[in-house]
Amino acid sequence: MDIDRAALKAEIILERKVTRLLNGRLVVLNICDLAGCMNPTDLHECLISRGMARGNPVLEEAVLHSKLNVSLLCRKCHMDRADTTTFRRLLISKNIDRYGLAPMVGWVKSLPFAAESQREEYLNLLEDLAREMKPGRWAEVVEPALWNYGVRRG
Ligand SMILES: [Zn+2]
Repeated sequence: MDIDRAALKAEIILERKVTRLLNGRLVVLNICDLAGCMNPTDLHECLISRGMARGNPVLEEAVLHSKLNVSLLCRKCHMDRADTTTFRRLLISKNIDRYGLAPMVGWVKSLPFAAESQREEYLNLLEDLAREMKPGRWAEVVEPALWNYGVRRG
């Protein structure tokens, strides 16, 4: 992991800590963005993948080093589920919720895409997800999906 990426991981771990009651004690920890697993270790590019940016070094640099594009996941969720359509949308929605739609849109607008159609695709996805983000909606969509994957909420 390069030094900027390690710094990003440290920043995200500090920024996204939550307090949970565990065996009768309050503990401060990180939880996996996908299924609430404890102490996740992996950074995952949820909106724009590294593969999408390959061959465009400036774009790749931006994609790997912006917290707006990054989810913190446990290894199992990262390997098994992060790239499925439903969960990808969930992860992006969590970052819209964290950082706001305007900063996410501003970031995508700032990126050096090879084709404007790529930028439009990401902007449309962000707008689409922001429209869907009504309270309780993700519980309806994601809880049954997690059940299908054998994941229980902790
Ligand atoms: Zn997980």
